[in-house]
Amino acid sequence: MVQSMTNTDTADIDATVKQVAELARAGSEVVRITVNNEDAAKAVPVIREQLEAQGLDVPLVGDFHFNGHKLLSKYPECAEALAKLRINPGNVGKGSRRDPQFAQMIEIAIKHDKPVRIGVNWGSLDQDLLTRLMDENARSDAPKEARDIMFEAMIQSAIGSAERAEELGLPGDYIVLSCKMSQVQDLITVYRELARRCDYPLHLGLTEAGMGSKGIVASTAALAVLLQEGIGDTIRISLTPEPGGARTREVIVAQEILQSMGLRAFTPQVAACPGCGRTTSTFFQELARDIESWLREQMPRWRREYEGVEQLQVAVMGCVVNGPGESRHANIGISLPGTGERPVAPVFEDGEKTVTLKGDNIAAEFQARVERYIEQRYRRNSGSREAG
Ligand code: SF4
Repeated sequence: MVQSMTNTDTADIDATVKQVAELARAGSEVVRITVNNEDAAKAVPVIREQLEAQGLDVPLVGDFHFNGHKLLSKYPECAEALAKLRINPGNVGKGSRRDPQFAQMIEIAIKHDKPVRIGVNWGSLDQDLLTRLMDENARSDAPKEARDIMFEAMIQSAIGSAERAEELGLPGDYIVLSCKMSQVQDLITVYRELARRCDYPLHLGLTEAGMGSKGIVASTAALAVLLQEGIGDTIRISLTPEPGGARTREVIVAQEILQSMGLRAFTPQVAACPGCGRTTSTFFQELARDIESWLREQMPRWRREYEGVEQLQVAVMGCVVNGPGESRHANIGISLPGTGERPVAPVFEDGEKTVTLKGDNIAAEFQARVERYIEQRYRRNSGSREAG
């Protein structure tokens, strides 16, 4: 499942409802919100109510650090409105306060029948546990590298906390684990070991992935290896948005990773050639971009109306070299004219040329053909895809 997290102040109900709604409409199947103070805890049930009023039943996960036990005890309606509680064992309390405060949160989860994600994070690792393991390692005959001990501390923190939660009465199938790291190879190493040592569902994500292409590439590199090995049940892409950038980008990237790997399908895919010296105009780049964003915009409606439409493959190609071939492989494709070619654009549907577009209106006419293709090929509302 694709998960995301808001970056609004949760106490700002309007802003949080708006962002959760945007994330959910973009395809986030779970949305996490921070619950960091009393105003945020009081806001949670109102946020839930307002989302329901918009017909959005996306599950909300409350992210708790330091004071979760107090907030959830004082505001049980907050616990009730959440679908899951995220507990960070490194931030649940220090020294003698840690165990009772962790127990208090687990008891609240049991009382409200809520699952828990035990989310260990590299940046907030349980320091008592790490110190103990480091001391043990120093005394051992064959000490391991400090890095390996840190990984072991992450894993033990997650699995040990899950076992403690089960001892307290939380059913094992109410527990999800995560051990987020910020380096690709570290994340792969830790999750492989975590998956080997336990059967709890795992939430995957490269924490502090960064901005733009760096964050996307690093997250994809790490998650693709693990997903390919069958590791991971929910994923989140922790992208830092560009100033003014859309928070929904992290949802789209998560979907694209899963869809590119053939694990799930969310939205029709556009195959476009990279362009080269055979095409000097930007027309085909613009068409590929416009078709892609138009397809995504239509999806909330199409998903309701057309069974299986997310499997649609569209091709937008730049010239005659690979254009007709690639377009034939797609469900529907267009081969635009390259430099010096006749200004005509053949359209292929299910491998057959159906029409040749020309003139100034190629983009709008191709869009209309795609819409018509969908209406004709995909069954409305329910049932399976009709034969093409
Ligand atoms: S299809 Fe044509 S324009 Fe596109 S990359 Fe290939 S040769 Fe270049």
